[in-house]
Amino acid sequence: MKIQEADAKALLLAQGLPVPGWAVARTAPEARTAAETILAGGAERVVIKAQVLVGGRGKAGGVRLAGSADEAEAVAGAILGMDIKGITVRKVLVAAAADIVKEYYLSAVLDRAARQILLMGSSEGGVEIEQVAAERPDAIVTIHAHPHLGLQDWQARDLAFRMGLGRHLKATVGIARGLVRTMLAFDADLVEINPLAIVRETGADGAAIERLVCLDAKVTLDDSALPRHPELETLRDPDEEDPADAEARLAGISYIHLDGTIGCMVNGAGLAMTTMDLVKRAGGEPANFLDIGGGAKADKVAAAMRLILADPKVDAILVNIFGGITRGDEVAHGLIEARAQQVRDVPMVVRIVGTNAAEAAELLEAARFETAASLDEAAAKAVAASAGGAGAPR
Ligand code: GDP
Ligand code: MN
Repeated sequence: MKIQEADAKALLLAQGLPVPGWAVARTAPEARTAAETILAGGAERVVIKAQVLVGGRGKAGGVRLAGSADEAEAVAGAILGMDIKGITVRKVLVAAAADIVKEYYLSAVLDRAARQILLMGSSEGGVEIEQVAAERPDAIVTIHAHPHLGLQDWQARDLAFRMGLGRHLKATVGIARGLVRTMLAFDADLVEINPLAIVRETGADGAAIERLVCLDAKVTLDDSALPRHPELETLRDPDEEDPADAEARLAGISYIHLDGTIGCMVNGAGLAMTTMDLVKRAGGEPANFLDIGGGAKADKVAAAMRLILADPKVDAILVNIFGGITRGDEVAHGLIEARAQQVRDVPMVVRIVGTNAAEAAELLEAARFETAASLDEAAAKAVAASAGGAGAPR
């Protein structure tokens, strides 16, 4: 689950990381009020940032500075409602504008292959890290944190020096350790600070000081671990969740949208992947990965069918069920019910084997469904029925 910058910053703050304060506004007047408070506090300018779950907001014009409350209101008004990479901006973050001396990059990701947390740092901050990786891979410093021992101090110091942050050693070590803590505390699979910035501030005595702060934050939470953190569920942004993803989540169905034309309804993740492979081998392209799970009842089958048909590219459906805990006749009832409610007519091929397969076959035959005995046959029939398939005239 991706969360908004403001929420990511709250998680970082809770772990003791240096994050400058902010407010969130949903309207231009709200942004004005926030800006008035910040400017009254002594800031010269405010920064106004679109809150959308995509990167590159700066380049898209979604991050702008304002020097007065009037200007803040106008800028917020321009950013709210803006379209950034297909997403409409509905809220903005307002904060005191930082006086940036230099931008760095620091992130922690779950490195599944190494089974460790990988820290990546670079002195080339502010730009997308993929671009740095492509153009100047040597400018990226990496370090693994042991899952039990954690990030050792010497490792964090090494990282700081190699990032060119030796002058801010203590702060960098603290931030690097804080990123690892944030990963573990919330079961995140990404915590990214870009930019981590040296900023110029005025100290209590009026003298200029330089400080290292997290100016942007991106956190992705591990969906599978969310049940361990029910309080984080409130950070889900309904404005930006794909309606299909939301329906799948509520129905307890694993659903991943793909680019093909053949909708697949399968029980079991392994069988779903095998089904996708066989569709491809038969010359077709799967429209999705869909696992209705074990013991799927008729209503879940109907929900899965709605999900598949909501994709306008789907022009053929392959149902492949292995009855174990899942009973074939339950699935057949679900399919019959789903077809009765179906909004558009799409050819469907059904293969059901295992528990109550005979009862399922009878039901399906009575309802005049196209069935297949083997998975190869089912895949071939579905591909032939699809306009995007090899069996169809081009
Ligand atoms: P992103 O483009 O979505 O990653 O949004 P960021 O929050 O990273 O902002 C993009 C860029 O805007 C940063 O790399 C900075 O150069 C600039 N920026 C962001 N916040 C401030 C700020 O408070 N002051 C100044 N001067 N520039 C900022
Ligand atoms: Mn950024």
